[in-house]
Amino acid sequence: MSSIDRIDPAKPLKNQKALVTGANSGIGEGCAIALGAAGAAVVVNYRSNPEEAERVVGLIKDAGGEAIAIRADVSDEGEVQAMFSKAIATFGTVDILVNNAGLQQDAPFQEMTLKQWNTVIGVNLTGQFLCAREAVREFLRRGVVPEVSRAAGKIICMSSVHEVIPWGGHVNYAASKGGIMQLMKSMAQELAPQKIRVNSIGPGAIKTPINRAAWETPEALASLLTLIPDGRVGEPEDIARAAVWLASDASDYVTGQTLFVDGGMTLYPGFATGG
Ligand code: NAP
Repeated sequence: MSSIDRIDPAKPLKNQKALVTGANSGIGEGCAIALGAAGAAVVVNYRSNPEEAERVVGLIKDAGGEAIAIRADVSDEGEVQAMFSKAIATFGTVDILVNNAGLQQDAPFQEMTLKQWNTVIGVNLTGQFLCAREAVREFLRRGVVPEVSRAAGKIICMSSVHEVIPWGGHVNYAASKGGIMQLMKSMAQELAPQKIRVNSIGPGAIKTPINRAAWETPEALASLLTLIPDGRVGEPEDIARAAVWLASDASDYVTGQTLFVDGGMTLYPGFATGG
């Protein structure tokens, strides 16, 4: 039987354990709920706001899934290691990491402080390194369990269209996402022989608290929509469906790729009428 034949379409992540960082809000919340619905037991990571993390845990459990909330700042090595220890003690292992936690601290280039630079790189890029390293250590310890998945583990890095589209006023954020691209590809190249798959999702504009100013008023929304050929702002569920696919054996031969889920934002819409 091929791996595709073996996938339960209703529960493609049955018996798998997932850890989603920054899962008490926005895209992370959407991914945690979708992975739970697909059959994975889910660690809902958060940094602040435990009530929101418990709300997400409750939604997953209400739908018949399994979940726990674990606090950790992804930019802190000790806290990340403690989170993985607790996750493994609770669920036995981790099969899927969604490296999602991220933030923006915007400023004109000449006014950007070192603190703003270091905070964004620390969470968005170093945080993904720290979580991925702990996940890989666990994947290598456990190896492939064929009844669970063809891979020893799957990592999904939440990147952005700004891994390829430059973004003035946000150079720390764009640099962090450009860095994620090479972190993801280099890890994928190094770890493919160990059956560890590493891919990214590059969201376009998704309606979450991180970019509220860009869609909240009719004027801001109209301006944003000029950048989106599809004509709508995305929802966390658009990203979550891609995450479930990248985490499942349906994408078993896919590694080292960024899947842009952006309504066409990376298609240079300004050139649609001839440039
Ligand atoms: P969001 O709703 O603001 O969620 C960000 C999440 O990251 C929150 O759960 C936040 O938790 C968590 N977080 C921030 N710093 C953290 C830290 N040090 N340790 C652990 N968790 C931390 O924003 P979002 O839009 O869902 O963003 C999620 C990811 O998608 C980010 O990587 C972002 O760059 C990416 N993305 C978003 C869009 C978009 O249009 N929304 C587009 C492209 C890429 P706390 O609130 O507890 O700090």
